[in-house]
Amino acid sequence: MNRNHMTDRVTLEKIEKLTAVKGMNDVLPPDSATVEWLEAKVRALMARYAYRNIRTPIVERTPLFIRGLGEVTDIVEKEMYCFEDRLNGDPLTLRPEATAGVVRAALEHNMLYDGGKRLYYMGPMFRHERPQKGRYRQFDQIGAEALGFSGAEVDAELILMANALWKEIGLKDVRLELNSLGQPAERIEHRKALIAYLEQHQEVLDEDAKRRLYSNPLRILDTKNPHMQTLVDAAPKLMDYLGDASRTHFKALTTILEANGVAYTVNPRLVRGMDYYNLTVFEFTTDRLGSQGTVCAGGRYDYLFEQLGGKPAPAVGWALGVDRVLELAKSHGLGNVGPILDAYAIVTDVTAFPFVHKVMQELRELGLSVQMHASAGEGMGSMKSQFKRADSSGARFALIFGADEIAAGQVTIKSLRNVSIGQQTLPCDQVTDWAATLQSSD
Ligand code: ATP
Ligand code: MG
Repeated sequence: MNRNHMTDRVTLEKIEKLTAVKGMNDVLPPDSATVEWLEAKVRALMARYAYRNIRTPIVERTPLFIRGLGEVTDIVEKEMYCFEDRLNGDPLTLRPEATAGVVRAALEHNMLYDGGKRLYYMGPMFRHERPQKGRYRQFDQIGAEALGFSGAEVDAELILMANALWKEIGLKDVRLELNSLGQPAERIEHRKALIAYLEQHQEVLDEDAKRRLYSNPLRILDTKNPHMQTLVDAAPKLMDYLGDASRTHFKALTTILEANGVAYTVNPRLVRGMDYYNLTVFEFTTDRLGSQGTVCAGGRYDYLFEQLGGKPAPAVGWALGVDRVLELAKSHGLGNVGPILDAYAIVTDVTAFPFVHKVMQELRELGLSVQMHASAGEGMGSMKSQFKRADSSGARFALIFGADEIAAGQVTIKSLRNVSIGQQTLPCDQVTDWAATLQSSD
């Protein structure tokens, strides 16, 4: 018997309820309207900063992430959803982040042949983490990447853009933390000092830290283990090992931020979860979300192009966690602005639909949003029950297509929100005039 067939059957027998996969959430209306609200704000903002949309596949070849993110990282070590292509056995992975894919696409399509590119993306990422508030196994990120630019002015542009987004959506209490990871040669010197320091404090190191002591000691500074905080606080700081060029880059960035009134703190322990960063790294954090307080994170990754086998090119970017940003927006009472329905069409007889659809179509072409009453198994329902639906739909007006109206080619329009606007019956060719007055009175 075919192997896949067998596995399918075994799995099916085990399933009692067909629920969503743990850590992967459904986003239902009206919450989905809040996501759309954020996405619309982001699209408009990106356009103003001249960033253009890129859409890369959700599935990539596994080596892309191993080479791109680094072998000794949380993501590659334990968080990726990997599987084999069932036909040719190719190792594939659901993307845990999008930067590697964006760089792969830039290389594959030689996107930088005529200069740098400013790009943004939105979409789901997958990480096998322990699900909790603000941490899921499928989660949306929105990210911006500036490829082919080496100057600190672009680091600044990205940070100012993120800052503008917080302002645009009304978020407060978002703090910016900055650090510089310098260049590889500087990191080697710092690394030696760091290993020597950590070796002297072996007894405080947890399992992860011991394992990473020689493979990736910098990552130990990124620990979330409270017992190691004092140790990492006192560890040698990378900042103290930076050469002139790295310092100049950092200074140029902070000068632009200061001139533009962007407050920041330098956090020498900010190292970020991927290996690909150099020079500038940053995070936007908030105290309002408990331990999942990082809403946006990013930095410069001038070596990623090379690491993925391409011609070297500088780059810098950030990614924000949509769930966390929306949670923060909610804590401010923002978002959730569902569409406002202009009208609800009440229809008593199904034979009227050829005519009703024609009228609704004209209104929709004028930009009105119109919901139509539809049968749910037992005919159209009474006028009274349809009015109830119309009312709870939130629509501003009811359009009544009753027997009399249909016979006369008319429609009765009744305000559902304002009793002082009496109802009126109009010939259908005047409905668009009514719609026009409606819009001008908005
Ligand atoms: P953390 O330290 O919280 O694990 P990270 O360093 O792994 O974050 P990045 O890979 O930099 O996060 O992703 C950028 C942003 O995406 C994070 O700041 C966060 O807002 C969001 N994010 C990351 N992982 C998750 C997740 N599992 N669920 C929801 N949002 C996430
Ligand atoms: Mg993480």
